[in-house]
Amino acid sequence: MYMSRKMTKQIQVGDIAIGGEAPISIQSMTSGYTHDVDKCVEEINALANAGADIVRVAVPEKKDTVVLKDIISQVSVPVIADVHFHFQRALEAIEAGVHKIRLNPGNISDVQQVHAVIDACKDANIPIRIGVNEGSVVERKDKQKRQKELAALFADHKQGHLIAMMIAKVEEYLEIFEARDFYDICLSAKLMDARLVIDIYQELSKRFDYPLHLGVTHAGPRETGSIRSITALGSLLSQGIGDTIRISYASNPIYEVEDGVELLNCLGLRERVGAELIACPSCGRIQVDLFSLVNDVRNQLKNDIDIPIKVAVMGCVVNGPGEAEGADVAVFAGDRRGIIYVQGERVANVPEEEILIRLLKECKNLQERIRNGETKLGSKSVSIIPPTVTVEGHSK
Ligand code: SF4
Repeated sequence: MYMSRKMTKQIQVGDIAIGGEAPISIQSMTSGYTHDVDKCVEEINALANAGADIVRVAVPEKKDTVVLKDIISQVSVPVIADVHFHFQRALEAIEAGVHKIRLNPGNISDVQQVHAVIDACKDANIPIRIGVNEGSVVERKDKQKRQKELAALFADHKQGHLIAMMIAKVEEYLEIFEARDFYDICLSAKLMDARLVIDIYQELSKRFDYPLHLGVTHAGPRETGSIRSITALGSLLSQGIGDTIRISYASNPIYEVEDGVELLNCLGLRERVGAELIACPSCGRIQVDLFSLVNDVRNQLKNDIDIPIKVAVMGCVVNGPGEAEGADVAVFAGDRRGIIYVQGERVANVPEEEILIRLLKECKNLQERIRNGETKLGSKSVSIIPPTVTVEGHSK
């Protein structure tokens, strides 16, 4: 059960709208050097193919901004320039035609320089994300003092205090932007603790109508970062909070996009474009090498199927048919064989080594028949049909 979505102001990032009733967009960031044009273009296009709507690039040096125009001309998604410390990089990126600037005003020391970036974005008609994180709430000048202050905030469990300080920082920055009549804004306030991320975005959502960019900072490798990120972002999105998301891992950013897409699919916030794979976790009743089979099926479906058919791979027939209910195509393993169903009809019983090929053939056939209008997605899906095979004494 979802709460209705908080209606925020809408901003435009190239051809992608963020906020209001616009679909929740997925962002990611390249991991290589921006000045390495070919690799950067390749990375942006790979992220776009995986499902990213918008891609951010770092521009720490002038050699990164001078190539932006060339990069933008070779990619199909809007590009955001991520600016830290050097306001000149923002001005150069705007000149090059980026579609949005990400700025942490806290690390640009002179407010006149922030004004210059605001004015340039206004002239170029592009938005700015004001990004605050837990490191923004204490002064940077004395690094040791800053580290001590941060450590104290966490050690004392002053979560409320930390959140209050971050919100105050957002308000302080917003005053600078709004005083210059600039409202083309998106907000983010990232922390690494999922509970605090939920708390702070709930607070931001109550206080502001600007669109919110959700994310967990320093989430770690995919194995743990996915739990941290999905906990926070899933909770917020299901409360109707958030307009664009970035899942960030210490790993290949393609995974960020893949997991972001899956999160939105699971919450019904994005129309699925490929197959949905259901698989049993396996147990002592397993009849085939299920993990390898599931992995192979997953990889092949990604390549071959671009309509949202539901495919179930079940390790046996004991609970399989019930658990696969609703699948368009399903295989139930039994005695080193696979019994394959398509739209509720049993179509094959093949040895284990032929399951993958036959299952994919049936998926592709079904895709073709749906495209030709011969049948419909989700019609006559698997319901509880007991295959007549015997497994370890269980007759089903
Ligand atoms: S489908 Fe069979 S093998 Fe898979 S978890 Fe259920 S009982 Fe175990």
